[in-house]
Amino acid sequence: MKTPTIFTLIFFLFIVFSWSCAAYVDDHVDDFLETYVHDHVDDFLEKSGRDNVDGFLECLKEEFDNYTSISSLVYTPINSSFMSVLNFSIRNKRFMSDSTPKPLVIITPDKESQIPTIIYCAKKNDMRIRTRSGGHDFEGRSYVAEVPFVIIDLLKLSDVTVDAEQKTAWLGAGATIGTLYYRIAEKSRTLAYPAGFSPTVGVGGHFSCGGYGILMRKYGLAADHVIDARITDVNGRILDRRSMGENLFWAIRGAGGASFGVILAWKVKLVDVPETVTVFTINRTLEQNATQLIHRWQYVLPKADPNLFLRVVARRDNSSQDGRNVTIRATFNSVFLGGIDRLLALMHEIFPELGLVREDCTEMSWIQSILYNTALPINSTEPLLNRFQDNVGYYKGKSDYVQKPIPISGLEGIWRLFYEPEGAKAEILLTPYGGRMAEISSSAIPFPHRAGNLYKLHHMVYWEGKDAQNEDKYISWVRRLYSYMAPYVSKYPRGAFFCYRDLDIGVNNNEGETSIGQARVWGTKFFKKNFDRLVHVKTRVDPKNFFREEQSIPPRRQWTGKDDI
Ligand SMILES: Cc1cc2nc3c(=O)[nH]c(=O)nc-3n(C[C@H](O)[C@H](O)[C@H](O)COP(=O)(O)OP(=O)(O)OC[C@H]3O[C@@H](n4cnc5c(N)ncnc54)[C@H](O)[C@@H]3O)c2cc1C
Repeated sequence: MKTPTIFTLIFFLFIVFSWSCAAYVDDHVDDFLETYVHDHVDDFLEKSGRDNVDGFLECLKEEFDNYTSISSLVYTPINSSFMSVLNFSIRNKRFMSDSTPKPLVIITPDKESQIPTIIYCAKKNDMRIRTRSGGHDFEGRSYVAEVPFVIIDLLKLSDVTVDAEQKTAWLGAGATIGTLYYRIAEKSRTLAYPAGFSPTVGVGGHFSCGGYGILMRKYGLAADHVIDARITDVNGRILDRRSMGENLFWAIRGAGGASFGVILAWKVKLVDVPETVTVFTINRTLEQNATQLIHRWQYVLPKADPNLFLRVVARRDNSSQDGRNVTIRATFNSVFLGGIDRLLALMHEIFPELGLVREDCTEMSWIQSILYNTALPINSTEPLLNRFQDNVGYYKGKSDYVQKPIPISGLEGIWRLFYEPEGAKAEILLTPYGGRMAEISSSAIPFPHRAGNLYKLHHMVYWEGKDAQNEDKYISWVRRLYSYMAPYVSKYPRGAFFCYRDLDIGVNNNEGETSIGQARVWGTKFFKKNFDRLVHVKTRVDPKNFFREEQSIPPRRQWTGKDDI
C-alpha cells in the first residue's frame, strides 16, 4: 500500500472538505465541528483505522481515471457534512448516539460504474462495506459496524422509470417506495406495486428482505414481483439476472443484499388495481369489546376475500370508564380493492361484530389509499417524493408468526404488560396473511412464511429522547413481551420476519468465522429450510465472506486471512 505524505493527505482532505455537498449542511454543523471534528476525529481515526482510510482514499485516487468526478461524493469525518450525510438516512435514533460506531468514510455514488472500484478499494484496505438505501433497518445494520467500515449510500442512484404499457418499472436501489408509487401514479390510476407503507423506505433493503404492504393478500410481497436486477458482486462484476444466474437472483429476493453484493437496480412487474378502493379506520377500546373483536378477527381475516386488507394495531390509551385510568385501543385499519357497497356486503357477511357502516368508509384511488395510510393529506402525491423524515424516534421491534388463534386469556395477558410503565408507547400490529400469501410456495423466494400462518405479529416499543439513557428497560420490556408470546406463536423454529431485523434472535461473530450451526440459529427463524440453499449460494458467490455482517449468510468454508484482490 502506498503511504501518502501528510501534506498530500491534508491537501486531499481540504479538497474533499471544500467540495462537500451543500444540500446536507444543516444547522448543527458548527456544533458538530466543535464537538466532533475538533475533539474526536484524531482520536476516532487513531482508534478505528487511520491506515485503512489513508489507503482507501489513495486507492480511489489511483483507480478513478477522473478522480474529481467522485471526490465530491466522498465524506470523511473531517468533512463538515459528514455527520449530516450520515444522519440523513438514520431512521432509529438508538443508532445516532455518540457511542454508536461511525464509518470511516461515506460515499454517495451517482453512477453504478463507480461501485466496483469502491468495493475493490475497501477489500484492499480491510474495510467492511455497509450498503444503505433508505436506512430503515431496525438494527441500523446499513450504517453501523463494530469494525472499520465504509458506507456506500445509494441515495443518488434513485431513478424510477415506469413503462405503463409493459406494466414494468426499473428502479435504482436507492429509490424509495414513495417515489415508486408516485411515478406509477403519474402514468396510471390502475397500476400499483405490492410494497410497504412508509414512503421513505428504500427499495434496496425493502425488496431484498421481502417487503409487504396493503396488496399482500391479493398479490404477495414486493420481492415476489421482481423480474430482473443488477448487482455488483465481490469481484466487481456488474451482473443482471441472466449473468448472475437463478440461484443468486433467488437469494437476493428475500435474504437481503448485504450477504451477496451491492444491489444496484430492480426491474419489477406492476400489478392491476381497480379505479376505486375503499378505506376505513375503526377504533375500539376494551370497554367497546376490543379483545373480543381481535379474537374474532383472527378467525375471519386469514380466510377473507384477498381484496380485503384489514390489520389491527393495539396500543395503550387513557380511559375515563369505571374509574380506570388506562385501557387498550384497537385500531382496525383497512383498504378494500373495490367500492363501498361490495365492502359493506362482505363485512356484514364475515365480520358483522365490527359494526362497519357506510359513514366509516371513503372511496378513493389506490395512490390516495397509500397517502391515507401514512396519514398524509390525500389531495397531493408530492409528499411521497420527500425522503427526509424529521420525526425519527427511538424504538426496538420484534416479530412473530401466529398459526393458531390466541385465546382471549392470552390477549388479556398482553394488555397487562402494556399497563406497565414501559408499555406507554408500545404497540402490537397484527397483519393478516392468507389469500395469495398462502398460495405462493415457501421456497419460491427465501421468505418462507406462507401457508399455515394466520397472521404476522409485530411487537414494538418506543421511547422518548429524555429516556435515551434508560433504553435498556424498554428493550427488556419488549423482550419480556416476546417471552410471554412464546406459547402462542410459531415454534421449531419460532419464525421471524427478516424485514423486521432483530439481533436478539442470534448473530454472527464480528471477527473470524461463524459456523453454519451458529448462523442456523437465527437463519432458520428468518428463512426456515431455505437457509441451506442460501448457504450454498453464498459459498458460490462470496466464498471468502467479504460481504458480511451480524446476520449475513456465512459460506460453507470461510476464509480467515486477508482477502486477495
Ligand atoms: C418506519 C418504517 C416503516 C417500515 N414499513 C415497512 C412495511 O410497511 N413493510 C415492510 O415489509 N417493511 C417495513 N419496514 C422494514 C423495512 O422493509 C426494512 O427495514 C428494509 O430493510 C428497509 O430498507 P432500506 O433500504 O430503507 O433500509 P437500509 O437500512 O438501507 O437497508 C437494510 C438492509 O439491507 C441492506 N441493503 C440496503 N440496500 C442494499 C443494496 N442496494 N444492496 C445490498 N444490500 C442493501 C443494508 O445493508 C441493510 O442490511 C419498515 C421500517 C421502518 C423503519
